[in-house]
Amino acid sequence: MSAVLDPNDKRAAHETNKLSKRLHRLVGQAIADFNMIEDGDKVMVCVSGGKDSYTLLDILVNLRQRAPIKFDIVAVNLDQKQPGFPEHVLPEYLKSQDVPFHIENQDTYSIVKRLIPEGKTMCSLCSRLRRGILYRVAGELGATKVALGHHRDDMLQTLFMNMFFGSRMKGMPPKLVSDDGKNIVIRPLAYVPETDIERWAAHRQYPIIPCTLCGSQANLQRVQIKKMLREWDRQFPGRIDNLFTAMGNIVPSHMMDRNLYPFTTLQTTGVVNPEGDRAFDDDDDCGPTPSVDGSATAIKLHRDD
Ligand code: SF4
Repeated sequence: MSAVLDPNDKRAAHETNKLSKRLHRLVGQAIADFNMIEDGDKVMVCVSGGKDSYTLLDILVNLRQRAPIKFDIVAVNLDQKQPGFPEHVLPEYLKSQDVPFHIENQDTYSIVKRLIPEGKTMCSLCSRLRRGILYRVAGELGATKVALGHHRDDMLQTLFMNMFFGSRMKGMPPKLVSDDGKNIVIRPLAYVPETDIERWAAHRQYPIIPCTLCGSQANLQRVQIKKMLREWDRQFPGRIDNLFTAMGNIVPSHMMDRNLYPFTTLQTTGVVNPEGDRAFDDDDDCGPTPSVDGSATAIKLHRDD
């Protein structure tokens, strides 16, 4: 006799199934759009013990089984010897999932502690050391791609960090050549919202390793930006999606970077271009003005009289 599911359980199972499909679709789409993984690749998945990298590994392992191409996966964790790091957790988990893995033991924690004065932020040196080690390991393992668990919200936060504090429009790319010129780094979670990863991680009950073991304070500016984006998402549904889509829809002729567009040598063409810039376009208006109740009223460009 089959058990009858409680309606709440049924709804939860349905939601989880939808979430699973969405995650796999978004990751598959990002991989295809940026040609992240090719036939014969060996993908080194960097696993820290956080929700993002567990999710990345999980989805890639599933996609690999149904992909029309052949590629290998090796999970790599860098044990930085932070005090209290539970070194048994990842090997046990990876064995239970039957995923080939490598644990790299390097005491970067002591190096960082020794070189950075007490109270100063350790992250920049720590991540530089970590990056170098992971690139070296990728070479030793024969990996052709290095996969990182950054997601859509990380990419947007980075864009805002760079605009707010670095005066430049620079985000976090879904695919890049590493600074040592030897590795292709990919971010297959590029299209995935962090809230989906949080829900997936809770469902999968990953053995999460806290990321505060080093004792370094969270980057407060990044935390603020994350709060700002979450608040926007709550207040203005669709805004984050639009912002993210905009990162892949840049119009250099309508920005002001002289390295990207030849403003200084611009010449008339004498040729009518229906797609060209009309300079006084209807969509150059001031945009909708928010009213006190939050609804929007479009400003009229021309007077009716
Ligand atoms: S939070 Fe800690 S482990 Fe992470 S980059 Fe900063 S110093 Fe390194």
